[in-house]
Amino acid sequence: ENSDYILYVNDILGNEEGAKYIIREPLGAGTFGQVVKCQDLRTGATVAVKVVKNKPAFHQQGLFEVQVLRYLNERHDPDDTRNILRLLDAFVFRGHLCLVFECLSVNLYELIRQNRYQGVSTNLVRVLAAQILDCLVVLNEARVIHCDLKPENILLKRTDSAKIKVIDFGSACMEQQTVHTYIQSRFYRSPEVLLGLPYTAAIDMWSLGCIVIELFIGLPLFPGASEYDQLSRIIELLGLPPVYMLERGKQAGIYFARNDDPFSTNKYRFKPREQFARESGRTEAPSRKYIKGSTLTEVVMGYPMSSKLTTPEQQAQERMRRAALVDFATGLLHINPLQRWTPRQARSHPFITDEPFLAPFTPPTDRPSASSLHPRHASIDGYATYSG
Ligand code: ATP
Ligand code: MG
Ligand code: MG
Repeated sequence: ENSDYILYVNDILGNEEGAKYIIREPLGAGTFGQVVKCQDLRTGATVAVKVVKNKPAFHQQGLFEVQVLRYLNERHDPDDTRNILRLLDAFVFRGHLCLVFECLSVNLYELIRQNRYQGVSTNLVRVLAAQILDCLVVLNEARVIHCDLKPENILLKRTDSAKIKVIDFGSACMEQQTVHTYIQSRFYRSPEVLLGLPYTAAIDMWSLGCIVIELFIGLPLFPGASEYDQLSRIIELLGLPPVYMLERGKQAGIYFARNDDPFSTNKYRFKPREQFARESGRTEAPSRKYIKGSTLTEVVMGYPMSSKLTTPEQQAQERMRRAALVDFATGLLHINPLQRWTPRQARSHPFITDEPFLAPFTPPTDRPSASSLHPRHASIDGYATYSG
Protein backbone atom coordinates (compact mmCIF):
# COMPACT_ATOMS: atom_id res chain seq x y z
CA GLU A 1 0.00 0.00 0.00
CA ASN A 2 1.04 3.61 -0.38
CA SER A 3 2.33 5.56 2.59
CA ASP A 4 3.09 8.71 0.59
CA TYR A 5 1.05 11.83 1.28
CA ILE A 6 -0.79 12.88 -1.89
CA LEU A 7 0.59 16.29 -2.80
CA TYR A 8 -1.12 18.84 -5.06
CA VAL A 9 0.21 22.11 -6.47
CA ASN A 10 -1.16 25.07 -4.43
CA ASP A 11 -1.88 22.91 -1.38
CA ILE A 12 -0.48 24.25 1.87
CA LEU A 13 1.78 22.32 4.24
CA GLY A 14 1.82 23.77 7.71
CA ASN A 15 1.41 23.36 11.44
CA GLU A 16 -0.28 25.06 14.39
CA GLU A 17 2.77 27.21 15.04
CA GLY A 18 2.00 29.14 11.88
CA ALA A 19 4.41 27.50 9.43
CA LYS A 20 2.83 27.70 5.98
CA TYR A 21 4.41 26.45 2.78
CA ILE A 22 2.50 26.50 -0.51
CA ILE A 23 3.43 23.76 -2.97
CA ARG A 24 4.75 25.02 -6.31
CA GLU A 25 6.14 21.97 -8.16
CA PRO A 26 7.64 18.49 -7.60
CA LEU A 27 11.44 18.28 -7.26
CA GLY A 28 12.09 14.61 -6.74
CA ALA A 29 11.20 11.42 -4.97
CA GLY A 30 13.17 8.73 -3.18
CA THR A 31 12.63 5.78 -0.88
CA PHE A 32 11.81 8.03 2.09
CA GLY A 33 9.29 10.32 0.51
CA GLN A 34 8.66 13.10 -1.96
CA VAL A 35 10.38 16.46 -2.30
CA VAL A 36 8.46 19.51 -3.50
CA LYS A 37 9.42 23.09 -4.25
CA CYS A 38 7.42 25.40 -1.97
CA GLN A 39 7.10 29.04 -1.12
CA ASP A 40 7.22 30.08 2.52
CA LEU A 41 4.10 32.21 2.87
CA ARG A 42 5.56 34.10 5.85
CA THR A 43 8.82 35.18 4.19
CA GLY A 44 8.26 34.62 0.48
CA ALA A 45 11.39 32.43 0.32
CA THR A 46 11.56 29.45 -2.03
CA VAL A 47 12.32 26.22 -0.16
CA ALA A 48 12.36 22.46 -0.73
CA VAL A 49 10.13 20.32 1.50
CA LYS A 50 10.68 16.60 1.93
CA VAL A 51 7.39 14.96 2.94
CA VAL A 52 8.35 11.67 4.56
CA LYS A 53 6.20 8.56 4.20
CA ASN A 54 4.14 7.95 7.34
CA LYS A 55 5.43 4.41 7.99
CA PRO A 56 7.07 4.23 11.44
CA ALA A 57 10.50 3.15 10.11
CA PHE A 58 10.66 6.09 7.67
CA HIS A 59 9.34 8.49 10.29
CA GLN A 60 12.03 7.35 12.76
CA GLN A 61 14.79 7.74 10.17
CA GLY A 62 13.36 11.14 9.26
CA LEU A 63 13.59 12.25 12.88
CA PHE A 64 17.23 11.21 12.89
CA GLU A 65 17.83 13.10 9.64
CA VAL A 66 16.49 16.24 11.37
CA GLN A 67 18.68 15.67 14.39
CA VAL A 68 21.86 14.99 12.43
CA LEU A 69 21.33 18.01 10.14
CA ARG A 70 20.71 20.33 13.11
CA TYR A 71 23.86 19.00 14.76
CA LEU A 72 25.96 19.37 11.58
CA ASN A 73 24.54 22.78 10.60
CA GLU A 74 24.74 24.37 14.04
CA ARG A 75 27.74 22.73 15.63
CA HIS A 76 30.04 21.87 12.73
CA ASP A 77 29.19 24.29 9.93
CA PRO A 78 27.68 27.43 11.51
CA ASP A 79 28.82 29.66 8.62
CA ASP A 80 27.44 27.37 5.90
CA THR A 81 30.77 27.02 4.10
CA ARG A 82 31.25 23.23 4.08
CA ASN A 83 28.79 22.16 1.38
CA ILE A 84 26.25 20.54 3.68
CA LEU A 85 22.51 20.96 3.03
CA ARG A 86 20.81 23.48 5.36
CA LEU A 87 17.73 22.41 7.27
CA LEU A 88 15.44 25.39 7.84
CA ASP A 89 12.44 23.90 9.63
CA ALA A 90 10.73 20.63 10.49
CA PHE A 91 7.19 19.80 11.55
CA VAL A 92 4.54 17.11 11.36
CA PHE A 93 1.66 17.62 8.94
CA ARG A 94 -1.23 15.11 8.98
CA GLY A 95 1.05 12.45 10.38
CA HIS A 96 3.82 13.07 7.85
CA LEU A 97 7.16 14.46 8.96
CA CYS A 98 8.08 17.45 6.77
CA LEU A 99 11.68 18.63 6.45
CA VAL A 100 12.17 22.13 5.06
CA PHE A 101 15.49 22.65 3.25
CA GLU A 102 17.14 25.40 1.27
CA CYS A 103 16.13 24.91 -2.36
CA LEU A 104 18.89 23.57 -4.60
CA SER A 105 19.12 22.71 -8.29
CA VAL A 106 19.69 19.44 -10.19
CA ASN A 107 21.57 16.43 -8.82
CA LEU A 108 24.81 15.10 -10.31
CA TYR A 109 23.09 12.13 -11.93
CA GLU A 110 20.84 14.59 -13.74
CA LEU A 111 23.95 16.59 -14.73
CA ILE A 112 25.56 13.45 -16.20
CA ARG A 113 22.32 12.62 -18.03
CA GLN A 114 22.03 16.14 -19.45
CA ASN A 115 25.61 15.70 -20.68
CA ARG A 116 24.37 12.60 -22.60
CA TYR A 117 26.35 10.23 -20.35
CA GLN A 118 29.65 11.45 -21.77
CA GLY A 119 31.23 12.51 -18.53
CA VAL A 120 32.51 15.92 -17.48
CA SER A 121 35.99 17.44 -17.82
CA THR A 122 38.85 16.52 -15.49
CA ASN A 123 38.71 20.08 -14.24
CA LEU A 124 35.03 19.85 -13.30
CA VAL A 125 35.62 16.44 -11.65
CA ARG A 126 38.32 18.13 -9.54
CA VAL A 127 36.11 21.07 -8.54
CA LEU A 128 33.23 18.76 -7.57
CA ALA A 129 35.42 16.21 -5.75
CA ALA A 130 37.12 18.97 -3.72
CA GLN A 131 33.76 20.20 -2.43
CA ILE A 132 32.54 16.70 -1.54
CA LEU A 133 35.83 16.14 0.33
CA ASP A 134 35.25 19.36 2.26
CA CYS A 135 31.93 17.99 3.44
CA LEU A 136 33.49 14.62 4.32
CA VAL A 137 36.20 16.31 6.41
CA VAL A 138 33.43 17.91 8.48
CA LEU A 139 31.54 14.62 8.76
CA ASN A 140 34.74 13.01 10.08
CA GLU A 141 35.11 15.73 12.71
CA ALA A 142 31.46 15.29 13.66
CA ARG A 143 31.82 11.48 13.71
CA VAL A 144 28.99 11.13 11.21
CA ILE A 145 28.93 8.60 8.34
CA HIS A 146 26.70 9.62 5.44
CA CYS A 147 26.10 6.00 4.28
CA ASP A 148 24.39 6.94 1.01
CA LEU A 149 26.81 9.02 -1.01
CA LYS A 150 25.85 8.85 -4.72
CA PRO A 151 25.33 11.29 -7.60
CA GLU A 152 21.58 11.62 -6.82
CA ASN A 153 22.45 12.87 -3.35
CA ILE A 154 24.82 15.62 -4.49
CA LEU A 155 23.07 18.72 -5.82
CA LEU A 156 24.20 21.79 -7.72
CA LYS A 157 23.29 24.94 -5.81
CA ARG A 158 22.18 26.62 -9.02
CA THR A 159 22.00 25.44 -12.62
CA ASP A 160 24.67 27.93 -13.69
CA SER A 161 27.18 27.11 -10.96
CA ALA A 162 29.75 24.43 -10.19
CA LYS A 163 28.93 24.77 -6.46
CA ILE A 164 27.39 21.74 -4.79
CA LYS A 165 25.81 20.58 -1.56
CA VAL A 166 25.65 17.08 -0.12
CA ILE A 167 22.04 16.14 0.76
CA ASP A 168 20.02 13.20 2.08
CA PHE A 169 21.24 12.41 5.58
CA GLY A 170 18.29 10.01 5.94
CA SER A 171 20.60 6.99 6.09
CA ALA A 172 23.39 8.62 8.09
CA CYS A 173 24.68 7.21 11.37
CA MET A 174 27.12 8.11 14.11
CA GLU A 175 30.50 6.33 13.89
CA GLN A 176 30.01 4.77 17.32
CA GLN A 177 26.55 3.45 16.34
CA THR A 178 26.92 1.46 13.14
CA VAL A 179 23.93 -0.77 13.73
CA HIS A 180 22.54 -1.24 10.21
CA THR A 181 24.25 -3.74 7.92
CA TYR A 182 22.21 -3.19 4.76
CA ILE A 183 23.39 0.28 3.79
CA GLN A 184 24.64 2.30 0.82
CA SER A 185 23.15 2.18 -2.68
CA ARG A 186 24.46 -0.91 -4.44
CA PHE A 187 26.69 0.68 -7.11
CA TYR A 188 28.45 2.71 -4.41
CA ARG A 189 28.51 -0.01 -1.71
CA SER A 190 31.91 -0.64 -0.17
CA PRO A 191 33.60 -4.07 -0.04
CA GLU A 192 33.44 -4.15 3.78
CA VAL A 193 29.67 -3.63 3.72
CA LEU A 194 29.22 -6.22 0.95
CA LEU A 195 31.27 -8.71 2.98
CA GLY A 196 29.48 -8.01 6.26
CA LEU A 197 32.41 -6.50 8.16
CA PRO A 198 32.21 -3.73 10.76
CA TYR A 199 32.41 -0.43 8.92
CA THR A 200 33.71 3.09 9.44
CA ALA A 201 33.64 6.49 7.77
CA ALA A 202 35.87 4.91 5.09
CA ILE A 203 32.70 3.62 3.37
CA ASP A 204 31.92 7.17 2.24
CA MET A 205 35.39 7.46 0.69
CA TRP A 206 34.75 4.28 -1.33
CA SER A 207 31.52 5.81 -2.64
CA LEU A 208 33.41 8.99 -3.52
CA GLY A 209 35.94 6.93 -5.51
CA CYS A 210 33.06 5.41 -7.51
CA ILE A 211 31.51 8.84 -8.02
CA VAL A 212 34.64 10.59 -9.36
CA ILE A 213 35.17 7.92 -12.00
CA GLU A 214 31.47 8.01 -12.93
CA LEU A 215 31.60 11.79 -13.31
CA PHE A 216 34.57 11.39 -15.64
CA ILE A 217 33.31 8.53 -17.85
CA GLY A 218 29.58 9.29 -17.56
CA LEU A 219 28.63 5.76 -16.48
CA PRO A 220 28.70 3.98 -13.11
CA LEU A 221 32.06 2.29 -12.48
CA PHE A 222 30.53 -0.81 -10.82
CA PRO A 223 26.91 -1.16 -12.00
CA GLY A 224 26.21 -4.38 -10.12
CA ALA A 225 22.93 -6.15 -10.94
CA SER A 226 23.08 -8.00 -7.59
CA GLU A 227 25.39 -8.07 -4.58
CA TYR A 228 27.29 -10.97 -6.15
CA ASP A 229 27.64 -9.07 -9.39
CA GLN A 230 28.74 -5.97 -7.47
CA LEU A 231 31.57 -7.87 -5.75
CA SER A 232 32.50 -9.62 -8.96
CA ARG A 233 32.97 -6.30 -10.80
CA ILE A 234 35.04 -4.86 -7.96
CA ILE A 235 37.31 -7.90 -7.87
CA GLU A 236 37.68 -7.96 -11.63
CA LEU A 237 39.04 -4.41 -11.63
CA LEU A 238 40.87 -4.26 -8.30
CA GLY A 239 41.73 -7.82 -7.29
CA LEU A 240 40.84 -10.02 -4.30
CA PRO A 241 40.20 -8.55 -0.83
CA PRO A 242 42.87 -9.24 1.80
CA VAL A 243 42.53 -12.51 3.73
CA TYR A 244 41.48 -10.84 7.00
CA MET A 245 38.40 -9.39 5.30
CA LEU A 246 37.39 -12.82 3.97
CA GLU A 247 37.92 -14.47 7.35
CA ARG A 248 36.06 -11.85 9.38
CA GLY A 249 33.28 -10.82 7.00
CA LYS A 250 29.95 -12.37 8.01
CA GLN A 251 28.86 -12.67 4.37
CA ALA A 252 32.26 -13.66 2.93
CA GLY A 253 31.50 -17.40 3.05
CA ILE A 254 28.66 -17.12 0.55
CA TYR A 255 30.92 -15.51 -2.05
CA PHE A 256 34.32 -17.09 -1.36
CA ALA A 257 35.66 -20.61 -0.85
CA ARG A 258 39.00 -22.02 0.21
CA ASN A 259 41.31 -22.30 -2.77
CA ASP A 260 42.29 -25.91 -3.48
CA ASP A 261 44.51 -25.00 -6.44
CA PRO A 262 48.00 -26.07 -5.23
CA PHE A 263 49.68 -23.69 -7.67
CA SER A 264 47.90 -20.59 -6.43
CA THR A 265 49.19 -18.35 -3.66
CA ASN A 266 45.65 -17.17 -2.87
CA LYS A 267 44.16 -18.76 0.23
CA TYR A 268 40.61 -18.09 -1.00
CA ARG A 269 38.92 -17.88 -4.39
CA PHE A 270 35.82 -16.05 -5.55
CA LYS A 271 33.08 -18.57 -6.35
CA PRO A 272 32.17 -18.74 -10.03
CA ARG A 273 28.70 -17.46 -10.91
CA GLU A 274 27.24 -20.95 -11.40
CA GLN A 275 28.52 -22.24 -8.06
CA PHE A 276 27.24 -19.17 -6.24
CA ALA A 277 23.81 -19.47 -7.93
CA ARG A 278 23.56 -23.19 -7.17
CA GLU A 279 24.56 -22.85 -3.49
CA SER A 280 22.57 -19.71 -2.73
CA GLY A 281 19.49 -20.58 -4.78
CA ARG A 282 19.64 -17.08 -6.29
CA THR A 283 19.47 -16.73 -10.04
CA GLU A 284 22.44 -14.79 -11.33
CA ALA A 285 22.21 -13.27 -14.79
CA PRO A 286 25.59 -13.06 -16.51
CA SER A 287 27.35 -9.74 -15.93
CA ARG A 288 27.14 -7.24 -18.76
CA LYS A 289 30.39 -5.36 -19.02
CA TYR A 290 30.46 -1.99 -20.68
CA ILE A 291 33.44 -0.26 -19.11
CA LYS A 292 36.38 -0.23 -21.50
CA GLY A 293 39.56 -1.35 -19.79
CA SER A 294 40.63 -3.91 -17.22
CA THR A 295 42.45 -1.49 -14.92
CA LEU A 296 41.57 1.97 -13.61
CA THR A 297 44.46 3.35 -15.67
CA GLU A 298 43.04 1.87 -18.87
CA VAL A 299 39.52 3.07 -18.04
CA VAL A 300 40.63 6.67 -17.47
CA MET A 301 43.63 7.08 -19.82
CA GLY A 302 41.83 5.28 -22.65
CA TYR A 303 38.75 7.49 -22.44
CA PRO A 304 38.36 9.50 -25.69
CA MET A 305 39.88 12.97 -25.54
CA SER A 306 37.71 16.00 -26.15
CA SER A 307 38.17 17.44 -29.66
CA LYS A 308 38.53 20.82 -27.95
CA LEU A 309 42.04 19.79 -26.83
CA THR A 310 43.88 20.49 -30.07
CA THR A 311 47.48 21.47 -29.25
CA PRO A 312 50.08 18.93 -28.06
CA GLU A 313 50.52 21.04 -24.90
CA GLN A 314 46.81 20.84 -24.04
CA GLN A 315 46.81 17.11 -24.64
CA ALA A 316 49.91 16.58 -22.50
CA GLN A 317 48.32 18.60 -19.69
CA GLU A 318 45.14 16.54 -19.97
CA ARG A 319 47.15 13.31 -19.79
CA MET A 320 48.85 14.55 -16.61
CA ARG A 321 45.49 15.44 -15.06
CA ARG A 322 44.13 12.03 -15.95
CA ALA A 323 47.16 10.30 -14.43
CA ALA A 324 46.52 12.34 -11.29
CA LEU A 325 42.84 11.32 -11.36
CA VAL A 326 43.80 7.62 -11.58
CA ASP A 327 46.17 7.95 -8.63
CA PHE A 328 43.55 9.87 -6.64
CA ALA A 329 40.79 7.34 -7.34
CA THR A 330 43.15 4.45 -6.52
CA GLY A 331 43.64 5.88 -3.02
CA LEU A 332 39.87 6.02 -2.49
CA LEU A 333 39.24 2.60 -3.99
CA HIS A 334 41.55 0.56 -1.77
CA ILE A 335 39.53 -2.60 -1.09
CA ASN A 336 41.03 -2.63 2.39
CA PRO A 337 39.34 0.18 4.36
CA LEU A 338 42.42 0.46 6.60
CA GLN A 339 44.50 1.54 3.60
CA ARG A 340 41.87 3.81 2.07
CA TRP A 341 42.69 7.51 2.34
CA THR A 342 40.81 9.72 4.76
CA PRO A 343 39.13 12.91 3.49
CA ARG A 344 41.91 15.03 4.96
CA GLN A 345 44.58 12.95 3.25
CA ALA A 346 42.76 12.95 -0.08
CA ARG A 347 42.32 16.71 0.06
CA SER A 348 46.06 17.29 -0.28
CA HIS A 349 46.35 15.11 -3.40
CA PRO A 350 47.76 16.97 -6.45
CA PHE A 351 44.60 16.10 -8.40
CA ILE A 352 42.62 18.19 -5.88
CA THR A 353 45.20 20.94 -5.33
CA ASP A 354 45.80 21.11 -9.12
CA GLU A 355 49.55 20.90 -8.67
CA PRO A 356 51.70 19.07 -11.26
CA PHE A 357 51.39 15.32 -10.79
CA LEU A 358 54.87 13.86 -10.99
CA ALA A 359 54.83 10.66 -8.93
CA PRO A 360 52.32 8.50 -7.03
CA PHE A 361 51.07 10.35 -3.99
CA THR A 362 52.02 9.24 -0.50
CA PRO A 363 49.45 10.76 1.86
CA PRO A 364 50.62 12.46 5.05
CA THR A 365 49.60 10.58 8.19
CA ASP A 366 46.23 11.83 9.33
CA ARG A 367 46.14 13.39 12.76
CA PRO A 368 43.22 12.41 14.98
CA SER A 369 40.38 14.88 14.66
CA ALA A 370 39.70 17.37 17.43
CA SER A 371 36.42 15.64 18.17
CA SER A 372 37.98 12.23 18.77
CA LEU A 373 40.17 13.89 21.39
CA HIS A 374 37.15 15.65 22.84
CA PRO A 375 34.33 13.17 22.33
CA ARG A 376 31.72 15.47 23.83
CA HIS A 377 32.21 17.80 20.88
CA ALA A 378 30.96 14.98 18.65
CA SER A 379 27.78 14.19 20.50
CA ILE A 380 24.42 14.53 18.87
CA ASP A 381 22.62 14.47 22.23
CA GLY A 382 20.59 17.53 22.93
CA TYR A 383 19.76 18.30 19.31
CA ALA A 384 16.02 18.57 19.08
CA THR A 385 14.22 16.49 16.51
CA TYR A 386 11.54 18.96 15.49
CA SER A 387 9.77 21.99 16.84
CA GLY A 388 6.21 21.68 18.05
P1 ATP B 1 16.94 8.06 -1.27
O1 ATP B 1 16.09 7.14 -2.05
O2 ATP B 1 18.23 8.39 -1.98
O3 ATP B 1 17.14 7.69 0.16
P2 ATP B 1 15.30 10.16 -0.20
O4 ATP B 1 13.92 9.65 -0.25
O5 ATP B 1 16.00 10.09 1.09
O6 ATP B 1 16.17 9.49 -1.32
P3 ATP B 1 16.30 12.77 -0.94
O7 ATP B 1 17.50 12.15 -1.51
O8 ATP B 1 16.49 13.63 0.26
O9 ATP B 1 15.16 11.68 -0.65
O10 ATP B 1 15.57 13.61 -2.08
C1 ATP B 1 15.14 12.97 -3.28
C2 ATP B 1 15.46 13.83 -4.48
O11 ATP B 1 14.76 15.09 -4.38
C3 ATP B 1 16.94 14.22 -4.62
O12 ATP B 1 17.71 13.25 -5.32
C4 ATP B 1 16.87 15.55 -5.36
O13 ATP B 1 16.80 15.34 -6.77
C5 ATP B 1 15.55 16.17 -4.85
N1 ATP B 1 15.86 17.08 -3.73
C6 ATP B 1 16.07 16.75 -2.45
N2 ATP B 1 16.37 17.81 -1.67
C7 ATP B 1 16.35 18.87 -2.51
C8 ATP B 1 16.61 20.29 -2.32
N3 ATP B 1 16.94 20.78 -1.12
N4 ATP B 1 16.50 21.09 -3.39
C9 ATP B 1 16.15 20.60 -4.61
N5 ATP B 1 15.93 19.29 -4.86
C10 ATP B 1 16.01 18.43 -3.83
MG1 MG C 1 18.37 10.45 -1.90
MG1 MG D 1 17.75 9.01 1.58
